[in-house]
Amino acid sequence: MSKKHNFGAGPCILPQEVFEEASKAVLNFNGLSILEISHRSPEFVAVMSEAQDLVKEMLHVPDGYSVIFLQGGASLGFLITAMNMSGTQKKAAYVNTGVWSNKAIKEGKNAGLEVVEIASSKDQNFNYVPKGYNADGYDFLHLTSNNTIFGTQMKSFPQTDSPLVCDMSSDIFSRTINIADFDIIYAGAQKNLGPAGTALYIVKESILGQSTHAGIPTYLDLKTHHDKDSMFNTPPVFSIYVSMLNLLHLKKNGGVSEMEKRNQAKADLLYNEIDSNPFFEGTAAIEDRSNMNVTFVLKDEAHAVAFNQAWNAAGIVGLKGHRSVGGFRASMYNALEIDSVKVLTQVMGDLANQNA
Ligand SMILES: *Cc1c(COP(=O)(O)O)cnc(C)c1O
Repeated sequence: MSKKHNFGAGPCILPQEVFEEASKAVLNFNGLSILEISHRSPEFVAVMSEAQDLVKEMLHVPDGYSVIFLQGGASLGFLITAMNMSGTQKKAAYVNTGVWSNKAIKEGKNAGLEVVEIASSKDQNFNYVPKGYNADGYDFLHLTSNNTIFGTQMKSFPQTDSPLVCDMSSDIFSRTINIADFDIIYAGAQKNLGPAGTALYIVKESILGQSTHAGIPTYLDLKTHHDKDSMFNTPPVFSIYVSMLNLLHLKKNGGVSEMEKRNQAKADLLYNEIDSNPFFEGTAAIEDRSNMNVTFVLKDEAHAVAFNQAWNAAGIVGLKGHRSVGGFRASMYNALEIDSVKVLTQVMGDLANQNA
């Protein structure tokens, strides 16, 4: 069967070369399978440290930051970040930009914090990113850089004296960012880094051990994992190994700035089609449109059957929109080639031409 064009929102497409390398390591990694090696073996310790080094190199992580791989996904990160960033006020600001932000807010409360929803785009079904709020003076400000479900993305980050905590699950490594602006960045691997099973944390070391949360559980304390170099317990070996392979691939292909250019070209191509094709319209505010997850609808639902048939026939998968938005969502993570986007825009163009 020929390879499909994977526009799925996650787990994500990864480069073919990474799949091939990963499958080789399942069969033979220094005479064992990567699935059976000890996480304490020198071979895996080297993988872990290479993965951490590549994260630092690809994102230009400055000194004073720790790179940690954990289990539990970004969903556990909602709680971990709130507990670890609990400060003297026990009061945190959250920007509510949709489903994932909402879950983070819930866990902030579960961590015993007074949560202030400092800004929200709920009034318009999260189709824009709120701006112009003042979030000074909190233990931290929590942001979601890219809203995977609603197709919006923060093009810049707010200026504030509150430390910034950011869920970058669905756009990390897709664009250049200034790590020094943040106290904690966290991301589930499976949107742009590697296979599901691990979550990446980039943590300012000066916050470690400073939490005011009483009785923070050992596993949820980031200091535990920093001190043990992400080997406090058995790490998700395979997920970290494949993430490392993907980071190597990223490095060989020009790094994050090159990826940013390619992602911009893919986004321009698809948004141009949406804006010029009379059959479709985008759902996100133009200035906040995500370059990773493109949400759009048919103006006339009567064409849904024909459109669905056409993109299925073209080998496209994963285009159905999330139930809270409806319509369609094209996720275009790093490994999605522009040729796949061209297949999609062709199908969209054909629909309009055939029904003109
Ligand atoms: C997918 C996603 C999550 C949840 O990630 P898990 O690793 O499945 O817990 C959180 N935040 C954002 C922005 C996401 O896209």
